[in-house]
Amino acid sequence: MLKKLLLAFLLIILSLAGIVLFNTFRFSPAEDKIDVLPAPELSSEALQHFQQAITFKTISYGDSTLFDSAQFIGFRKFLENTYPKTHQVLSREIVKGYSLLYKWEGKNPELKPVVLMAHQDVVPIEEATRTMWTVDPFGGVVKDNFIWGRGTTDDKVNLIAIMEAVEKLVAENYQPDRTVYLAFGHDEEIGGKGAVAIARLLKERNIAADFVLDEGGQITESKIPGLDRPVALLGTAEKGYISLKLSVSVPGGHSSMPEKETAIDILVAALNRLRSRPFEAGLTEPMKGFMESTGPYMPFVQRMAFANPWLFKKLILAEYAKTNTGDAMIRTTMVPTIIESGIKDNVVPTVATAVVNFRLLPGHSSLLVMEEVRKKINDDRVSVAPLNKNISEPSPVSPVNGFGYRKIASTIRKSYPRVITSPFLVIGATDSRHFKDVSSNIIKFSPVIDPIGFHGIDERISLQSYRTALWFYEQLLRDLE
Ligand SMILES: [Zn+2]
Repeated sequence: MLKKLLLAFLLIILSLAGIVLFNTFRFSPAEDKIDVLPAPELSSEALQHFQQAITFKTISYGDSTLFDSAQFIGFRKFLENTYPKTHQVLSREIVKGYSLLYKWEGKNPELKPVVLMAHQDVVPIEEATRTMWTVDPFGGVVKDNFIWGRGTTDDKVNLIAIMEAVEKLVAENYQPDRTVYLAFGHDEEIGGKGAVAIARLLKERNIAADFVLDEGGQITESKIPGLDRPVALLGTAEKGYISLKLSVSVPGGHSSMPEKETAIDILVAALNRLRSRPFEAGLTEPMKGFMESTGPYMPFVQRMAFANPWLFKKLILAEYAKTNTGDAMIRTTMVPTIIESGIKDNVVPTVATAVVNFRLLPGHSSLLVMEEVRKKINDDRVSVAPLNKNISEPSPVSPVNGFGYRKIASTIRKSYPRVITSPFLVIGATDSRHFKDVSSNIIKFSPVIDPIGFHGIDERISLQSYRTALWFYEQLLRDLE
């Protein structure tokens, strides 16, 4: 009897190991053959145009009274003067005062149009960090094979590379097969009202785009552990955003005869409970796609895990949870960002409030998160409400078998040799989240390589990145049949 049991057990183990190994070895790169065309040299004009674009202080401030309209009008004039042929052939509308919508009529009205997006605005330079910059952040400086300045990576590289590509093609009398819209918002960094208005316009005109391409993921040479090849991370979804305000209001008193529990105590205990009960980790569609796309190129152990998520899911999630970037990919995150209470050292406050910021995984609505937070806190004395109207639900997930994803993936493989393409979950917010009524294929990807200083000090992008972006957009536009 015991012998039989042992034998059965052994058989189960062996067949499990067999399945795992079979899956692992079957998990091989699924690349189509692609003829890589040589990238063109970076012309001095194209570089100059990018440098000039950086000198416009198209800054989005949190405080709207600081908005400098002259910079945006100047930038618009700069585009008109720099890309005259584009402005002859494409129609242009000014939306919400400063956002721009161009239309390049395609040859074949049967084909659905596409939308290429980029934003004109940049984040401010924090006063405390101004002296820490190596160069003038608005100087458009080229140094050590990089273009330096605020907006180089976020997001003028895309805007200028698109305009360069269009101008070049228009000069050749090229006309795309499908209609191409260029949508350049002016306030992405503060919510994107310009993009909202453009999306509404397109929807009112019954325009259903085949795909929308906006910033998001990038090419990374070394940021994925275990991979020795570059990966182009094509965002197929982005996380949602909500801040919740937790408030406690109880009778105060004098600090000489304190109550057992004050507003501050109740709030702190609530925050502790919340922090000790993180949202459950899970593998979203983009994450599964990432494992499928990169797994075949990974070292054996990772490859085995990625090939068998049915068995190794827990291990994979535990591994990702170890780093903050990894954890953000697999979980709805939360972090307290503001806490307020008290006015005087000898007065027990009656009110204590905290703000907690949440980034929502696809599938987690803001309502669901609010409900969960109340459950985790489990104290009726703590009220939970949205801090303001700045709420965005996580985006739908774009399919990887659609025309848009496949076209963008094959184009970047032509523009950047040896690159692996993979779906990806974008953690920040982009203007394209407002376009879900315009297309169900929204890809969030900038064709640049490991940019540096995003929203920070010494923001810069390599000349190779700019060249890759120019080459990418030109090929994409030539190939929209
Ligand atoms: Zn941006």
